[in-house]
Order: sequence, then structure tokens, then C-alpha cells
Amino acid sequence: MALIVHKYGGTSMGSPERIRNVAKRVAKWARAGHQMVVVPSAMSGETNRLLALAKELAPSKSSAAYNRELDMLAATGEQASSALLAIALQAEGMESVSYAGWQVPIKTNSAFTKARIESIDDDRVRADLAAGKVVVITGFQGVDEEANVTTLGRGGSDTSAVAVAAAMKASECLIYTDVDGVYTTDPRVVPEARRLHTVSFEEMLEMASLGSKVLQIRSVEFAGKYKVPLRVLSSFTPWDIDINEEAKSGTLITFEEDEKMEQAVVSGIAFNRDEAKVSVLGVPDKPGIAYHILGAVADANIEVDVIIQNISKDGKTDFSFTVHRGEYARTVELLNTKVLPSLGAAEVVGDTKICKVSIVGIGMRSHVGVASKMFRSLSEEGINIQMISTSEIKTSVVIDEKYMELAVRALHKAFDLDQPVS
Ligand code: ASP
Ligand code: MG
Repeated sequence: MALIVHKYGGTSMGSPERIRNVAKRVAKWARAGHQMVVVPSAMSGETNRLLALAKELAPSKSSAAYNRELDMLAATGEQASSALLAIALQAEGMESVSYAGWQVPIKTNSAFTKARIESIDDDRVRADLAAGKVVVITGFQGVDEEANVTTLGRGGSDTSAVAVAAAMKASECLIYTDVDGVYTTDPRVVPEARRLHTVSFEEMLEMASLGSKVLQIRSVEFAGKYKVPLRVLSSFTPWDIDINEEAKSGTLITFEEDEKMEQAVVSGIAFNRDEAKVSVLGVPDKPGIAYHILGAVADANIEVDVIIQNISKDGKTDFSFTVHRGEYARTVELLNTKVLPSLGAAEVVGDTKICKVSIVGIGMRSHVGVASKMFRSLSEEGINIQMISTSEIKTSVVIDEKYMELAVRALHKAFDLDQPVS
């Protein structure tokens, strides 16, 4: 008998029929002797629907008071789906109770719409489990010190589930979703993409931050910090498949690096179109320049990703970096008004039609020539690399957005990711 946390995404909770299937699946696990805690998302589309209503009333208002109400509003989506799931479980003959975040309580800070979990009190939940109940806990929400309802940011119920699993020292946290695991890359771009049986936590962290949207990145950080065994699997298998088979399906996020080292050097290709490139040209090459430019950007709360500075010529250099595409206009404006005049730089230019493509794998630590293989493969396709950034386990390039799919396909092939791992 083990304590298991199941998390079901919005698609899996999308209709009464699907909720009934979730209940049947959870009941199967409970009847196999496990203590079950279930964390559902809102029914698919519900969070968007609620937030759109708020927007209709106050288009682009953003203040703490407004954000507080957004959380009050959006949290109702999970409250409804949780109650419906408890009702469905009762209809399956299981004793079940649902709790909103404040009832557990899941305590968070007061950063409305992007709150962070601070603590979870599991006494009430444990008592219910001991009494043989299946406990349903709302995803995505918590409560702050002043008893305000808070939410954890879009996709936040992944984080709720992992946090509950960590607090309760669950044997495993199973994330049921509309894909059947983590893939070598997006199968919509590369049909030969393969599901990974295991992926290391560090690789998953890179992939989540690089744009693979299977898990909310904060949930992966949480899993790493508290070593929560995490599995991503499909909620669209028949609910009555053999439980042992189901327990081994999907992708397991592991902490066993050595095992992984023997396998592929590169585990996956991630990509995103979310960034834009900004270049400051003709910058005087002297100490303090990077700070002068990026300090101003950071002060405006704009996140910077890839950065490069060219070698200087005649005492001048060019400085480029990427920001989120939604921040592009604000960044250019800021540089033109606040930075150029005091810096004596020539001009600011930019490009929003870029994308970032990355190879990820912990095997890169122990193998040389991985990045050069990436560059060769891109050059064979005639793709120009505009920027490069690396970490221990990934190499990213910024290229013209129109070559994104070509690049991803070429790299997937070059690193043999379409071949089954032995
Ligand atoms: N319902 C919330 C959202 O759509 C949280 C979640 O589904 O994880 O962002
Ligand atoms: Mg989600």
C-alpha cells in the first residue's frame, strides 16, 4: 500500500463523461490498496472563459486589487471540477471528499496570479486517508496570510500536485495529461519523435524552460528540490487497463543520472518562438557597458535570455540579447529613451522573427563534439546561426524563425533521436 498523488489536466476533466472515467481510474487505484490524493485542473477552457469575462469588464487593468479578484474568480474553476470529481467518486462507491486550497490549507505568499506555495498542512488530508477516503484537492490555488484566495500561475495545478506529493512524502506523483509522455521533440513537427521512457530531472527542467509545455516549469523545480518521483502519462488509455502496466507507462522523471549516461547523448530537441532579438550597435567598448544596458532592462523587470557581445573594432562593439516577444516594443523604447543617450551608442535594431532551437542531454557533460555536430547539421541545411548559448547540458541557437521546423527535423535526425534506445 502506498500513498499516491494523481493529477488530471483540464482536457482529462473536460466533460462529465471524462470526469467519470477519471473517477473509475482513481477508484481502481484505491481498490488496489493505495491511499489516493487527486489534484484536478479546471475543466478545459474554464480558466480562459473566466478570465475573459474579467477582461470584458476591465480590459487591461493590472493592480493588486484587480489581481486579487482575478484569483478569486479563476480559483472557482478548480473548485467546481474538484467537487464534481468527488461526486463522481462517490457514485463509483468510493468515500470521497474535496477541499479547496484554503481548506487544506495550502499556504502561499500574496503574489496574486503568480503566488508561491509556502507550506501545506496535511493533517486533515491524512485523517481522511486513514478513514479510507479518496481526497480531492483543488489544483492551482492556495490561501495567503490574510485569508485571500491566491492562484499559482497558468498551468499551476502541476505544481499543486507535486507540492502535495512532496509535503505528504507520496511514493509517486502521476501527472495524467492529454499526451502519453515526454517526447524527444514535438511530434507535430517531427512525426518520428519518440516517447522517452525516462528523462532526468535536469533535462526536464531545461526542456520545460526551453518551451516544451508538458509540465509547468515550477512543478519540475519543486520535484527536483524535494526529489518527488514524477511520471507523465496519458489519461486517454482505457481506465480499466492493468494497473501494473499503467504504473509503468508514460515517462518517468528520474534522479538516476548514471543509468541515463549510458543512453543517448542528446535526449531531446526543444524550440520556441517566444523571443525577439534586440541589438545595440556601435557601443563604446569599455567597462560597465553590459551593466549599463542590461541593468536598465532588469530594472524595468524585463527578463533577458541569450546574450552576445561582438569583438570590438575601433573601440566600438555590438551588443545583442533576446527578450520575450511581448516585451520587445517596451525594450526598444527603453533603450532608445533611457540608454542610448547616456551611452553614446549609435542605434538599436531588432528582429522579432527569430526562434530558439536547443539540444538537451545530460550526456553532453561527458561527450565532446556535441555542439559542433549541431552546428554542422545546421550548416548542411544552409541555416544561419545568429546567436549561441550553452549550459552544461544544453546548446541553444537563435535562428530565423522560418527555418525552425527544418532545423528541428535535421537535429532530430542528426542525433539519432528517431532510433529506439536499446
Ligand atoms: N486551470 C489553470 C490553468 O488553466 C491551472 C491548470 O490547469 O494547471 O492555467
Ligand atoms: Mg496543464
